[in-house]
Amino acid sequence: MADITALVARSHGGGEVLALESRPEPTPGPGELAVEVAAVGVNFIDVYQREGVYPTEPPFVLGNEGAGVVRSVGEGVSGYAPGDRVAWAFTLGSAAEVALIPADQAVRVPDKVDLETAAAIMLQGLTAHFLTRSTHPVQDGTVALVHAAAGGVGRLLVQLITHHGGRVIATAGSQEKCRIATDLGAVETIDYTNLGSEELSSRVRAAAHRLGHDAGVDVVYDGVGRATFDASLASLRPRGLMVLFGGASGQVDPFDIQRLNSGGSLYLTRPSLGHHIATTEELHGRANDVLGWVADGTLTVHVGGRYPWSEAADAYADLEGRRTTGKLVLVP
Ligand code: NDP
Repeated sequence: MADITALVARSHGGGEVLALESRPEPTPGPGELAVEVAAVGVNFIDVYQREGVYPTEPPFVLGNEGAGVVRSVGEGVSGYAPGDRVAWAFTLGSAAEVALIPADQAVRVPDKVDLETAAAIMLQGLTAHFLTRSTHPVQDGTVALVHAAAGGVGRLLVQLITHHGGRVIATAGSQEKCRIATDLGAVETIDYTNLGSEELSSRVRAAAHRLGHDAGVDVVYDGVGRATFDASLASLRPRGLMVLFGGASGQVDPFDIQRLNSGGSLYLTRPSLGHHIATTEELHGRANDVLGWVADGTLTVHVGGRYPWSEAADAYADLEGRRTTGKLVLVP
């Protein structure tokens, strides 16, 4: 069998540790699919693994999310055959010309959805799904604050909250990004560049007031973390829910739990996608919704950048440097 190319993190560190390497084409073991990869999604989890924040022993093949065409199936796999179009959200080692994907972590891609779009939507789409369906089921009248609303997860949150009858107060780091959030359905936007926590929360509260929520927002979806956490807590109504789902600006420091009491019996959660697609049934249920919404136009996926694997370091530098909107993908 011919050799294949893979994108490898040779050690922990910045983009300089990434390199393309040649290796023998892998054959699928029991329960696995060998997939010819069409596109790989760029995510913060790749950064956390590359840096060693999430324990991952180097060298390792980068990438958790992707889509492609099944080349061969391992022993005991039923329901998949060579030629099937599949996508996945959570398999380390995705950035290889041929990747091994456990069949129970794969989903079928509907005919109406191209493989690049599937690779771009899986991880962030499933995340937006569990945040709006399980962590806080958005309903008619919900007023939600979404930070970094022009980003990957942010764009999808704005669309799904609006789709489920909620209204979004969006923050973003420029006027242009605020316009993107408005176009996606946000009813109020705030450019939070250079705003302190007090100023930001008072602007959010004023926006909530205009929406008839005098006591603050029902829920905050915060993937920015350290830079926005204080303002997020201060924006909630009594008994509101703070959903901290990431730390794009850095992880939140330990804090005094009494603040939840003084803020008005607030709730705080720090959820992860892995716990929300832990069974094949749950993965397939959420993926069918998300890919179905892409197919019927409910969800718009914006691929904000397409990078060959040889330029992967630039893709991650752009993501970490706040220079992106929407989703970045790597193509072989
Ligand atoms: P985004 O496309 O949203 O990019 C991050 C955005 O965060 C930037 O574009 C920027 O938007 C904003 N930001 C604010 N401060 C900073 C900073 N100091 N450095 C970098 N970015 C900053 O990324 P993703 O959609 O991929 O991920 C968003 C968050 O969701 C991440 O924290 C990620 O870890 C988390 N996540 C969590 C999951 C879970 O299961 N819990 C699953 C998937 C993602 P702006 O310029 O508008 O401020």
